[in-house]
Amino acid sequence: MSDRPDLPADTPTDLWIDGHALPSVSGARFDVADPATGGVLTSVADAGVADASKALDSAVAAQSRWAATPPRRRSEILYRAWELVVEHTDELALLMTLEMGKPLAEARGEVAYGGEFLRWFAEEAVRIGGRTTTAPSGNGRILVTKEPVGPCLAVTPWNFPLAMGTRKIGPALAAGCTVIVKPAEDTPLTMLLLARLFRDAGLPDGVLSVLPTLDSAGVIGALMADSRLAKISFTGSTQVGRILLGQAAHHVMKASMELGGNAPFIVFDDADIDAAVEGALAAKMRNGGQACTAANRFLVHNAVRERFTAALADRMDALRVGAGREDGTEVGPLINERQRSRIAALVDDAVASGAVVRTGGKAIAGDGWFYAPTVLDHLPTDSDILAEEIFGPVAVITGFDTEDEAVAAANDTPYGLAAYFYTRDLDRTLRVSAALNAGMVGVNRGIISDPAAPFGGVKESGLGSEGGSEGIAEYLTTKYIALTA
Ligand code: NAD
Repeated sequence: MSDRPDLPADTPTDLWIDGHALPSVSGARFDVADPATGGVLTSVADAGVADASKALDSAVAAQSRWAATPPRRRSEILYRAWELVVEHTDELALLMTLEMGKPLAEARGEVAYGGEFLRWFAEEAVRIGGRTTTAPSGNGRILVTKEPVGPCLAVTPWNFPLAMGTRKIGPALAAGCTVIVKPAEDTPLTMLLLARLFRDAGLPDGVLSVLPTLDSAGVIGALMADSRLAKISFTGSTQVGRILLGQAAHHVMKASMELGGNAPFIVFDDADIDAAVEGALAAKMRNGGQACTAANRFLVHNAVRERFTAALADRMDALRVGAGREDGTEVGPLINERQRSRIAALVDDAVASGAVVRTGGKAIAGDGWFYAPTVLDHLPTDSDILAEEIFGPVAVITGFDTEDEAVAAANDTPYGLAAYFYTRDLDRTLRVSAALNAGMVGVNRGIISDPAAPFGGVKESGLGSEGGSEGIAEYLTTKYIALTA
């Protein structure tokens, strides 16, 4: 099979182990699809357990040297990698658009956002502190130091093929840890190109490996069973997160989990409704709705509900849906047919039980996995679509009358990742921010992600934070040294 002509000729498609592009031990490869056409883009090497073992051997061999590399040098390599990511914006964005489907403008935005984690953690690498105090009894000193955890495994989803990797690789390398990345099978190309950029930035062999595989369970299971692996950082579904936490328990391995969400987006009756509609569009439609932070349930005060719903439906209806690489595209395809069928079934079920379609409500015929931007109103409170993470371009709206009712509905989910609300009342801002059971709250804004802020969830949305000064702590252990003097 020959590669698609618009795929750059030097796109890396082999495994990346110990500083080298390698075929898999078995020689197996698997196809990577273009969700805008459903056709094959190229194939990549398919890692097996033997390849995982080679990658871990190299990560273990490189670990002590990397940990002993001066923080300033680690910082410089991360900084250079950031510069290279920015310099290669066009190639990285094109690969993301081709393998994941997002519009080119959004893909370029992800290069800037994803790259920023490398710059942020380049700055954090030289600020890893500790502390010393005199023991309260006066009997000696308490010295506290921070040390790298050791070799880490980073498992990433397909929705942000670059940023979900850099937000783990950045802090791990800054802390002095080696990393093996297992990218999502739908989107391995971007991460393989990033590994090459890291080599060009001067990262020593073995410090970063990338293992695309169709056998996630087998490859990750083998790595998790090896006591030389010190940490797992996972971003993906709660269902898979639970399996990995179970495996981590065996060696009592340090684990960070960025899992699913079911974000409420509350519009109070004192909100600036035009601003709320713009914020809703951003919170719902970033990445075509395929974001863990995507607004999943719109809770709108009944006094402003019709105005908000009509305006949102108009804006959703006007969005231009198409292949991500075409000029002017605002919404790309869903990642694959399985996701599209799942979303179609959720919408059909809601409509069958009484929801009203204000716009969209159907898959778009033709090649690729497109689904029309959709607004549903008048949902029965027991609809499955209110309880499940939609992960697509579908906004579902329910009404409320009191603040308590809105907060109770917002918190009525096992998830607790992001939450949003619009109000002009400062007292309410503080009260509702405190009352929402979520790791992140957006007030009068629909986009909250920022490499300088701690990203993470509560309840079944995860453990730990990525980004901010909190992000590097996930890759460090604390040591207490008792001194007599
Ligand atoms: P997923 O859980 O299916 O897959 C995530 C990763 O886990 C992939 O690399 C996949 O190959 C791997 N995997 C799948 N089954 C596995 C198994 N049995 N053992 C080991 N690894 C396995 O999730 P997805 O569909 O790729 O991504 C969407 C999910 O990710 C959504 O739930 C979304 O909310 C979540 N997500 C969370 C965040 C966050 O920061 N909280 C960010 C982005 C996405």
